[in-house]
Amino acid sequence: MRDKRLDFLRRGRGERFKPLPDQELEKLPDDVWHKCLGCRELLYDKDLEANVWVCPRCGYHHRITVHERIAMLSDEGSFVETNHALRSLDPLEFTIRDRSYKDRLLQAEKDAGVSEAVVTGVATLDGVPISLAVMVMEYLGGAVGSVAGEKITRAVERAHQDGRGLVIVSQSGGMRMHEGLFSLMQMAKTSGALARLQQAKLPFISIIADQTYGGATASWVALGDVIIAEPGARVGFSGPRVLQAIKVRLADDVQKAEFMLQHGMIDLIVPRPQLRGTVIQFLHHFKGHMRCAAQVVPSQANGSAGNQRRKDEK
Ligand SMILES: [Zn+2]
Repeated sequence: MRDKRLDFLRRGRGERFKPLPDQELEKLPDDVWHKCLGCRELLYDKDLEANVWVCPRCGYHHRITVHERIAMLSDEGSFVETNHALRSLDPLEFTIRDRSYKDRLLQAEKDAGVSEAVVTGVATLDGVPISLAVMVMEYLGGAVGSVAGEKITRAVERAHQDGRGLVIVSQSGGMRMHEGLFSLMQMAKTSGALARLQQAKLPFISIIADQTYGGATASWVALGDVIIAEPGARVGFSGPRVLQAIKVRLADDVQKAEFMLQHGMIDLIVPRPQLRGTVIQFLHHFKGHMRCAAQVVPSQANGSAGNQRRKDEK
């Protein structure tokens, strides 16, 4: 009788390592294992998720979705999105590489699953009322046009109006060239609103995620009462592509959070698993100046946290 256990000895090498057919591959779950972008180790998704997508081996901070950020920085069910109906227009009828800005906006919305490069809303964090803005790198590289700038400004004004703390998580390639001067004006607009918030003695906690460049760094990001960065976050004024174009070479570590901390541009670097606790600590510290007693209506807005997977890392 033929011993099936010895079949592998009879098969040729090619046969033994035959790849699975496409139909079989499609059946395999694609969200079980994740290859760390820092150390290349294969990690179990559940472990990574439990550690807010920070590699337990090398500490690499993987990009997380806007929904995961919101869930991390608000009390469960407390986030209510604001100004989600605002949409960018195409004031300059801008076209780049034969593709109109309008087309790119539609594509960006499809890619990112949100309607702009920033999601804003009100929430509570450990019971403290906050106005929260989280930028979305997947939407045109987090570039800030007139609507993203307007949404950030309104988030600042909402904090001012209600007497809330303000928390902004920034990740941005800079201002949106498709809107030219209209986008550059957002730097002055957001800064003006923040000056009024400062006069009201309301706290602004600015959080820098990887990567934050250009006009974002040159305006609201640098105006936080407390400026916190995630470890290894790339932050600076000119992004690598701009530096390459103008033929400037900088040392690799110059535009990193650690370099910025050494040179006094930011206040502290906090690993993501401790970020929520640190923000809560600061909010309680500044709570005396807040006067918001508004009850936040529970919503399902952040219920989908964790369901959207990052396409860029697959
Ligand atoms: Zn790793």
